[in-house]
Amino acid sequence: MPKSLSTLLTDENLREAGISQNDLSLISGLSHTYLTSLRSGKIQRPGRDKIIPVSIALNLSFEETNHLLAEHGMLPLQEADIKLFVAVSKKRMIRGHQPLFDNINFDLLLISLESLDGELVVVSNKPTAVLRDPAQITFMDKRDGITDPTYLRFREELARERRGILDERLEKFKMSYLLCHHCLEEYLSEAKKDEEEYAYVQRHVETLVEYLRHPNFRLSLTTQCPALLFEIKTLPGSAESEKHYKVFYIGHINRKHGTPEADGSHCRPYERLYGFATDSLKIATHFKNEYDSLMEKCLLKGTSGDDAARYIKGLL
Ligand SMILES: [Zn+2]
Repeated sequence: MPKSLSTLLTDENLREAGISQNDLSLISGLSHTYLTSLRSGKIQRPGRDKIIPVSIALNLSFEETNHLLAEHGMLPLQEADIKLFVAVSKKRMIRGHQPLFDNINFDLLLISLESLDGELVVVSNKPTAVLRDPAQITFMDKRDGITDPTYLRFREELARERRGILDERLEKFKMSYLLCHHCLEEYLSEAKKDEEEYAYVQRHVETLVEYLRHPNFRLSLTTQCPALLFEIKTLPGSAESEKHYKVFYIGHINRKHGTPEADGSHCRPYERLYGFATDSLKIATHFKNEYDSLMEKCLLKGTSGDDAARYIKGLL
């Protein structure tokens, strides 16, 4: 658990977090001079507007950020902080390797990636969470026994933010969405066992159908499961060599097994690496190849209209 900012920002901890002071400054928006003063412990009582950006840059979990705030005599995270989280995430650059842990930083890193200009490719084994109704996004969290109202508010607001970004980006850029049709069917049939869950899943899939009407939203249904779940953002450049790629690798998330913590806590900081975000061209190339080979195994390729809608409606 983090102690104070000066302890967190030692060279050793920064190295472990895989972040240079330069990146820390760029992500947090705090000047080098200010960060140096923080590191030396010269600033004893930094405001939450300074603590939170550092916490985001270091990918701290919800719980860890609360510990850090408490360490500096501040109140725990509250709804009013969400705006700052979003603002810092939108400015954050994806560079090098940024680890992805199970927590709100998952959503925050997605906000960083998805708010960039450029085409988006999403490869998934079920409808992406951004198409869930933000008002219902905490349905599964609540089922998992999460009760912290602030955490749930964060989840909801970040989902709303991601949906807003999707709508705004779709006006200018294409989104290609690749989904395994077996998984889609399974997602629906599994939920049918439980009325409440089915209503939630049905709403999710109906939203997917609604998005098919958007000319920039293209869906491809594959006959094979993707081995890797990821998003690739292609930052525009006039020539291929000028393009930049940002990759968000999600890995495989299996929440079906395992019991909650004995103390009922929902945050399991640094327990499991879920994936990473990177701007490495080499890694982007591998993921693009994976995407291309999956595109060859498509039932419905690059569909944005009636065919896919009819197909999916038939599953409901
Ligand atoms: Zn599948």
